[in-house]
Amino acid sequence: NTLISLNNIAKVYRGQNVETYALKNISLNINQGDYICISGPSGCGKSTLLSLLGLLDSPTGGDYFIKDVDTKTLDMDKQAELRNLHIGFIFQSFNLIDELSVFDNVALPLTYREPAMSQNDIEAAVKQALDEVEMGHRAQHKPNQLSGGQQQRIAIARALAGKPSILLVDEPTGNLDSKNGDAVMDLLDELNKKGTTICMVTHDLRYAGRAKTQLKLLDGEIISYSEARQVSDHLA
Ligand code: ADP
Ligand code: ADP
Repeated sequence: NTLISLNNIAKVYRGQNVETYALKNISLNINQGDYICISGPSGCGKSTLLSLLGLLDSPTGGDYFIKDVDTKTLDMDKQAELRNLHIGFIFQSFNLIDELSVFDNVALPLTYREPAMSQNDIEAAVKQALDEVEMGHRAQHKPNQLSGGQQQRIAIARALAGKPSILLVDEPTGNLDSKNGDAVMDLLDELNKKGTTICMVTHDLRYAGRAKTQLKLLDGEIISYSEARQVSDHLA
């Protein structure tokens, strides 16, 4: 059950006089249920890798398959379709729309689905996602009436509502104090235990260690990859 397969991926940014190899020789399989943490110093290629995985940008070399679909063969519309179907994004800065209620923020991406979802299906999916992050009672609030930790839980609900194959998570605790950060990480851990595939970028070592797989980048290359099964997994 390989979800994502990267073979020899490269990403070169070409400027007028400079070429920056943001990624080189990246080969990686992500299976359903994986929980991967990508870490490394600033500039090592973490954001670039996450944006390639999320089909927000294309590699300049190599192959990227999602569920055996070669993403190179897809035009922009098809890529967007695949992104909507498979990918849920969670950002450091929540990216919620202040003018919309919590409910409407979570519903918004679902309204762009092809084929269109019925209003009933959208409402059911939003309700389920808000319940999953224990924010059902805040559905009619506006984001600025909530704490940072609560806003991040809404952003997680928005990502979950589309029932993505994988969550791509960029520095989820970067704007949170340690109490709210811990709560958000506990929620991500719990979602993974229930089967959600997660690929996260963080430089916070307290949280990186919780992921089952540690992937370290340096200068655009994978310098280490280790899988540590947690004690609780062995007992389960
Ligand atoms: P990280 O997220 O680990 O800080 P990035 O993926 O943002 O690293 O960047 C990797 C390298 O690619 C860096 O040298 C960065 O300056 C460069 N880079 C990233 N995005 C661009 C871009 N749009 N144009 C030119 N260079 C870029
Ligand atoms: P992070 O805080 O995740 O390390 P960065 O601050 O390195 O992210 O970069 C954020 C975004 O800015 C990157 O995803 C990339 O698209 C863009 N970027 C980074 N470096 C450059 C650069 N040298 N030139 C143009 N865009 C860049």
